[in-house]
Amino acid sequence: MTTHDHRELEDAVDAATIFITAHPGRGRPYYGRPLAALSRPIWTDSVPTMGVDGRWRLYMNPQLVADLSLDELAGGLVHEINHLLRDHAGRGEALGVTEDQYWVWNLAADLEINQDLLEDGFELPDWSALPSRMGFVDGLTAEEYFRHLLDSDSGARGSDCDTGPGTGPEGSPCGSCCGPDPSMATAADRDTGTIPNGISASHAEVLRRSTASDIEEYLRGTGPGSVPGGLNRWATDRLRPVVDWRRALSAALRSSAATVAGRADFTYARPSRRSTDDVILAGMASPALDVAVVIDTSASMREAELDRVRAEIDGILRQVGDAGQTIRTLSVDVMVHTIQRVTSSGSIELIGAGGTDMRVGIAEAANLNPRPNIIVVLTDGMTPWPQVPLPIPVVACLVGPAVDRLTRSFQVGSVEIGPPPDWIRTVVVDRP
Ligand SMILES: [Zn+2]
Repeated sequence: MTTHDHRELEDAVDAATIFITAHPGRGRPYYGRPLAALSRPIWTDSVPTMGVDGRWRLYMNPQLVADLSLDELAGGLVHEINHLLRDHAGRGEALGVTEDQYWVWNLAADLEINQDLLEDGFELPDWSALPSRMGFVDGLTAEEYFRHLLDSDSGARGSDCDTGPGTGPEGSPCGSCCGPDPSMATAADRDTGTIPNGISASHAEVLRRSTASDIEEYLRGTGPGSVPGGLNRWATDRLRPVVDWRRALSAALRSSAATVAGRADFTYARPSRRSTDDVILAGMASPALDVAVVIDTSASMREAELDRVRAEIDGILRQVGDAGQTIRTLSVDVMVHTIQRVTSSGSIELIGAGGTDMRVGIAEAANLNPRPNIIVVLTDGMTPWPQVPLPIPVVACLVGPAVDRLTRSFQVGSVEIGPPPDWIRTVVVDRP
């Protein structure tokens, strides 16, 4: 295929992009930013159809693209964008998906996406994997489909990674699009001589957040039901705090005042559901609540956890912001990198990447002037905790997959990693 042919194919991709975002009546403007962030297509025969990698590089098989209609090409691009927005690569990693299970995970991710795409009126080729075709119910997460697939015969095909939609049987995944698949980039590199650098993980995170905001904005203009269910839940979950901070903060203040022992605390499950915070302990949190938030920015906190942290900070701000209060945040790994006074999570600089010692941040927060009357620690929990109680109540909000491993303590060098001690009130945010 000549360069000239590729130019024609690129024109087709551009036309599909315009179709997705600006088609009268069918345009989905919230896909505009992520589509613009995709690399120019890298034409290669090493992918059976099309695929993306973690740096938002788009790989396309020229023969296949030449055969697709505008509708199908648009559907394919939106499919790939959804893998990136929903961070299937990161979620697979968090789930502990092995190389052998990669194919099954990719299929599970496709099932999560494709039903939404159909609901949204996009064209999908006949061979596309759909929950109904596999005997599953609609509307589950990739994690849930993954478990079902492993339990069923469909998952037993194992690492049949070469089976792409162009060649494979009904129910094949779209191709190499939601896992660390370096072979795609190296093969493409061989084919094309050079491939673009793509975008960084933090840029991707900014894109996810701004797209979630754009979806909310779109929903405000068009009304409920105009965004398919799975994508709507994704956007809501990105932006909404899970923890009922009114309850968490007032409970911590009360238990601290009464020096209540024991850690019979509350767990909040993801995906978030509407909280009933307006009726629980209304007015218990003092209007003059001065909250200092210690944020774990160590290397073990991945973007998904930091994203949850931002949403929870917005929840804390909504709790105290009515009284015109701001909160102070401290970015901490083994040292305090920044101390800020903020009115929104968007202005927080999350700096760090080293080891983890939240004791340092908690001590510094307790010494702030003026002294806060409550300290919240947002962390994955892989940290030592201060064993001597502070005169200020402390709430530990544990996020991310590491939380599961924190039912008992273990020793790392001279420090003990484990659940927070009894005097710290603990809230666990479960993963789905
Ligand atoms: Zn896919």
